[in-house]
Amino acid sequence: MYCKNCKRNVRPIKPFNWAVFLIGGFLTAGILACLYWIYWCVVSGVCPMCRDKNWRETGIRKHIY
Ligand SMILES: [Zn+2]
Repeated sequence: MYCKNCKRNVRPIKPFNWAVFLIGGFLTAGILACLYWIYWCVVSGVCPMCRDKNWRETGIRKHIY
C-alpha cells in the first residue's frame, strides 16, 4: 500500500485490542468479543508511521470501508 502522507510504500497495520476482546467478551458472555471481532474485520489498516488512511488506490486492493 502506498501512503500519500509519507510518500512511500508501507505495510498497513491493524492494531487488535486484546484487552477489549478478552475482558469485554468475558463480561458480556462473548457478545462484545463478537462485535469487536466484526468491527476489527470491517475497519481497514492504517499507516504505521502517520496512523492515517491516506492510501493511493492501486486498483488491485480496493479500500474497504
Ligand atoms: Zn503514512
